[in-house]
Amino acid sequence: MTADSTISTHVPAPGADYAATASEAYRAALAVIESVEPRIADATRKELADQRDSLKLIASENYASPAVLLTMGTWFSDKYAEGTVGHRFYAACQNVDTVESLAAEHARELFGAPYAYVQPHSGIDANLVAFWAILATRIEAPALTDSGVKHINDLSEAEWERLRARLGSQRLLGMSLDAGGHLTHGFRPNISGKMFHQRSYGTDHETGLIDYDAVRAAAKEFKPLILVAGYSAYPRRVNFATMREIADEVGATLMVDMAHFAGLVAGKVFTGDEDPVPHAHVTTTTTHKSLRGPRGGLVLATEEFAPAVDKGCPMVLGGPLSHVMAAKAVALAEARQPSFQAYAQRIADNAKAFAEGLLKRGATLVTGGTDNHLVLLDVQSYGLTGRQAESALLDSGVVTNRNAIPSDPNGAWYTSGIRFGTPALTTRGFGPQEFDRVAELVVEVLSNTTAEGTSKAKYKLADGTADRVHAAAAEMLAANPLYPGLTL
Ligand SMILES: *Cc1c(COP(=O)(O)O)cnc(C)c1O
Repeated sequence: MTADSTISTHVPAPGADYAATASEAYRAALAVIESVEPRIADATRKELADQRDSLKLIASENYASPAVLLTMGTWFSDKYAEGTVGHRFYAACQNVDTVESLAAEHARELFGAPYAYVQPHSGIDANLVAFWAILATRIEAPALTDSGVKHINDLSEAEWERLRARLGSQRLLGMSLDAGGHLTHGFRPNISGKMFHQRSYGTDHETGLIDYDAVRAAAKEFKPLILVAGYSAYPRRVNFATMREIADEVGATLMVDMAHFAGLVAGKVFTGDEDPVPHAHVTTTTTHKSLRGPRGGLVLATEEFAPAVDKGCPMVLGGPLSHVMAAKAVALAEARQPSFQAYAQRIADNAKAFAEGLLKRGATLVTGGTDNHLVLLDVQSYGLTGRQAESALLDSGVVTNRNAIPSDPNGAWYTSGIRFGTPALTTRGFGPQEFDRVAELVVEVLSNTTAEGTSKAKYKLADGTADRVHAAAAEMLAANPLYPGLTL
């Protein structure tokens, strides 16, 4: 589908009454905060001003609606509700039950999943729940059956030690970091790397695309318990039907981490083989990136894995953040509206326009373009490291982050790439024309930046560039205000 220009990409459609009511709510809230710790009220006001004044191209960020944000500031924060709906370790959870059931129902309906778990506090936590649910289902449950017991507490000391050793020696195959994978997919600095024997698949050297035959070959050789698909810096779509075939061929469980692109799945931009939910055994996501909800995570699962996922708290999670689950319900309700599909399509259209804008001005893009919400620019042709490019852009009011590119000569710290994403500015109302202009500004900054000597960090920005770009950005930001009509 294409974006219908009559449907607002803001949610909910910001009528005058809505903005006035939200303004009143925030003014009252800030006055209450002010009376206790004025510096926090100040910082809160300043954060809105800063977000309004910057060209935010960070691919993992967005702007949640005032309805989502306001939902988080309530007494649900005060309630303990360990366990799950109808099965709590605390009394008086009837209202949390309402909240959690509704959020889960919206998630199931939105994504067409048999089961949804809305407690994870973040994307990392969602992945931890998924990993342990897969281990519980595939390693722990059969071990209990073999020992003829129902509960782990009934295993003998020796059986328990054998099971612990097995839980700690499973294999995971995921996408390599420099091809766009995520730290939580089995890399050593994250607990997933300490839990699993890990191997990764990369991308083709020529095309930069996932080579499914290479994934299949790696899976056949390594025989992982878990095959992880999903990324945070790969500018292309993934064929999850093929990933599932590969998983089935080697007896692996397919876990898809759609943290970055859940909004494109929710908005039906990724359908069929590109929609992970019908193909994966377990799907995890954040709720605050392209999905435009509160900061948090969720897990979707088949009936087979649902009972284990449902025990996420207390398995690896502390008490649920009921106020955030309430905000997830609100955000998921927003994502079920037709306007969200228009928004998601516009995210992808804008990324294309931005990529084309960069390419026609001579830039080099990893994979040569994009067909999702992100663009990975190789800055080597400007004689810069990712770090220098990131800093020069920031000096000019363009907020991005540096990112490694495949076989990056500058390593993971300085890098040779800049990652851009369109979800946030699309929420503000930017369209393809504005994104072409943003591409022009990015190229203007990078063409006017020079590395200082052999330093990978120091750089010089030609006089006047930062001011010119700031002024051009300010004009576009003023024409596409964040939270239109909201005044503090
Ligand atoms: C962002 C991201 C995460 C982590 O999300 P947090 O909420 O920051 O914990 C996990 N996986 C992928 C692929 C991501 O992009």
